[in-house]
Amino acid sequence: MEQRLIERLKNADRLPSAPGVAMEIVRLNQRDDVSVDELAQVLSCDPALVAKVLKTANSSMFGLPREITNVRQAIMILGFRSVNLLALSFSLVSSSRGQTSIPFAYRRYWTHTIATTVAARFVADLYAPGLKDEAFVAGLLCDLGQPILAESAPKDYAPVLAEMSSSGGVLQDVEQGILGTTHTEIARDLLNSWGLPVVLCDAIGAHHDPLQLTDPTSPAAVLAQVLHLSVTCADLLVCPDPAMEGAVEELRSTGSRYFEMDGVACAELLKAVETQLAQTANLLEVDMEDPEALLDVRTRASELLVRETLALNQQVQSVSHEVERLSEQKRELEVQVTTDPLTGLKNRGFFDEALEGEIDRAAQQGHSLGLLMLDLDYFKRVNDNYGHPAGDELLRRVAAVIREHVSETDSAARYGGEEFAVICPGRSLDELKARAEQLRSAIEAIQLPVDGGIYQPTASIGGCLTQDVAAEGTATRLVDAADQQLYRAKSEGRNRVRVVTSDDES
Ligand code: GH3
Ligand code: MG
Ligand code: MG
Repeated sequence: MEQRLIERLKNADRLPSAPGVAMEIVRLNQRDDVSVDELAQVLSCDPALVAKVLKTANSSMFGLPREITNVRQAIMILGFRSVNLLALSFSLVSSSRGQTSIPFAYRRYWTHTIATTVAARFVADLYAPGLKDEAFVAGLLCDLGQPILAESAPKDYAPVLAEMSSSGGVLQDVEQGILGTTHTEIARDLLNSWGLPVVLCDAIGAHHDPLQLTDPTSPAAVLAQVLHLSVTCADLLVCPDPAMEGAVEELRSTGSRYFEMDGVACAELLKAVETQLAQTANLLEVDMEDPEALLDVRTRASELLVRETLALNQQVQSVSHEVERLSEQKRELEVQVTTDPLTGLKNRGFFDEALEGEIDRAAQQGHSLGLLMLDLDYFKRVNDNYGHPAGDELLRRVAAVIREHVSETDSAARYGGEEFAVICPGRSLDELKARAEQLRSAIEAIQLPVDGGIYQPTASIGGCLTQDVAAEGTATRLVDAADQQLYRAKSEGRNRVRVVTSDDES
């Protein structure tokens, strides 16, 4: 069987080894008792590396309030891990020698890589802050496999580049077809063999397809998602598709899939990358594509992203207005269904349900439940003597009086005709009687203007209080008992109150 490309390259000793400083840093990281001094000492062997670390730390990407002038200060302010990872990535990046015999587009590669790196740091800062430093390193190293293949295996890689420039397509697919491996796999294996943290190797290996990593919430998977989005952003900026809509849609859908970003958030990402790109390229001393062209791409893409989001927001807004209107309509209908149109009090249907509800609540909380039934005296005569509209007006006045004299915990309803009911939870017998008496005297005080004078109504009230709410059929028992007392009040002369407890209703 043909040897895998990576094995062949390794066996032929064609792959670059990690720069000495990088190896030292990796070695330090394998211990848990490393001191600031040791890291500072390792870095001081490579002044150019130190200069890059300090320049980066002082760049707008880190946004520090004051200038850092030496490695110790950098470690104190940025933290050991940040400096360590920065130095590691700058050092490893130099494992690409920057020259090959085949037409590898270094300038485009670097512009793309730095766009990815800046994007990765920006995205991680917002959506995975714990992985911010790893994101920077991973961004810088994730496509390192490309120049390494071009440099270490030029004959193998030349057909890949030729096919990409003649027919285009997805680089990983073309590599897989021609080489049986991809630059991503090469980078993962190489970084692995150099002893880089597993999270970085796994994330870089899966960054074109983060779903390869089974647990999407693991640090490696989140980092792979950060990278995938960042590469998509770099693709849009650096390798603009003549039909930009496709790349814009790709960015928007990737941002939304991993981090619920909308078009505006994606446009902010593009802007951050485009504005920090030149500075970062300068830090790393690499040549970059024309910044003017990038600005132009970014501006056009942002317009598309924002326009789509605005349109989407408008749709969402009109749908939510409709939902609001319908739920308002539903509330109104619910009120209509439970309200008596003449008096505005709750109706019989509401009363039946409310009584069952109050029974359950009283049973649960162990309190009493009282019910008053109120019936106007000789009401028929009002209709007969002064007309039906006068009768209606009296019903409205009585309803207003009832509303005024019941407390918030009571529920009053028009039970039917000229009969009203009030449910009174948690009262003693005396309290229930007092409430009934208040209602009676308030109704007696009504003065209804009628033909040729004033009509003063009266009402009879029957009531029952029960402590035994858990028993079956409480609702019927209570209504019957209150009704019976109402009947008695009528027969004893009207305009009076009769309230009993369920123990002595006789
Ligand atoms: P009692 O003292 O025995 O209760 O005598 P009453 O006249 O009040 O009782 P009765 O049941 O004989 O008459 C009730 C009347 O109420 C009969 C009915 O026409 C009238 N009524 C029922 N609903 C309405 C209504 O919505 N508006 C008007 N104006 N009258 C109504
Ligand atoms: Mg009546
Ligand atoms: Mg009646």
